[in-house]
Amino acid sequence: FEFEDAGLHPVVLENVKRCKYDSPTPIQAYCIPAVLTGHDVVGIAQTGSGKTAAFLLPILSKLMGKARMLQGPRPSAEASRVRAEPLVLVVCPTRELACQIFDEARRLCYRTMLRPCVAYGGAPTRNQREQLEKGCDILVATPGRLMDFMKNPSLLSLARLKFTVIDEADELLSSGWEKAIDSLFGASSDTNVDADHTYMMFSATFSKEARKLARDHMEEDFVRIK
Ligand code: AMP
Repeated sequence: FEFEDAGLHPVVLENVKRCKYDSPTPIQAYCIPAVLTGHDVVGIAQTGSGKTAAFLLPILSKLMGKARMLQGPRPSAEASRVRAEPLVLVVCPTRELACQIFDEARRLCYRTMLRPCVAYGGAPTRNQREQLEKGCDILVATPGRLMDFMKNPSLLSLARLKFTVIDEADELLSSGWEKAIDSLFGASSDTNVDADHTYMMFSATFSKEARKLARDHMEEDFVRIK
């Protein structure tokens, strides 16, 4: 199994080559086809396994195949502010991880018109808000800052989400974010009446709490990858 055979969108495949990824890592080899065929996924994987590209590549490919969902040309710098209505939400526990995922998203989004943004705590909100106001298709966020921004519906709405990814779920669930994550999964499943919302969760261990989250919110035929 090679990237060329994975059924990725050609622009996304070019970006894979630009990143100099030769062959898929094991998690990528299992995750890409599962997401492309519409399955929810639980991936038991550590940092360094290539899990970021494992979820980003099929998500970007699917969005490229549905170009009419995109909000169109990038607004110019002077254009009026828009409310951010991302199609993809990636939640992770730390600023460092959020920035790493955002960097990889930026590289893989090259020439796609998809706009990634990042939001994390411990930094002023202003710059992050300004980025969101320019338009955002893919939001990578830590939970505290995300909740803050969600309190302002004219800044951020999750009503258009198609993909929700929880990264390092065990970490988030054991550090007091269990309710927040649960309501995020719940909220996005309520607002998306169409059943084609994809949920993904990555975790170093499949803890009791992570299992409950999968059971409560994912399709019964979710794919578990180890
Ligand atoms: P991650 O596990 O997502 O943190 O990825 C670890 C590192 O591996 C990142 O720096 C990626 O850029 C890199 N990487 C991801 N997929 C591949 C691949 N298929 N081949 C080589 N490097 C990769």
